Amino acid sequence: MADCKNCGKVLPEDWRYCPNCGQDQWGPASPPQEERTETPPSNVPPPPTPPPRESPAWLRGMGYTFGSWLLIAAVAIIVFIILSVVFVSCLAVVSQNAGTP
Ligand SMILES: [Zn+2]
Repeated sequence: MADCKNCGKVLPEDWRYCPNCGQDQWGPASPPQEERTETPPSNVPPPPTPPPRESPAWLRGMGYTFGSWLLIAAVAIIVFIILSVVFVSCLAVVSQNAGTP
């Protein structure tokens, strides 16, 4: 027979935990119950949700129009360069003709 280290209740020798107060008879005598001050790791923001794989229709339409506008601009620039070269050559021819009547 032994007495509880915490509350003094008589309990069998081989009982580890006091049935009255729950004191561990084999462990350290009445350790102070430390309050858990650990902050749970709940401040971690959730991972960002990945964007949908399929882009919306308006975005695809914008991309399509942007690409077509880019193509049109490229063609226009090329045509403008060709026309300017032809115009300059024509001016040169005209000036040569004008120079030699
Ligand atoms: Zn006890």
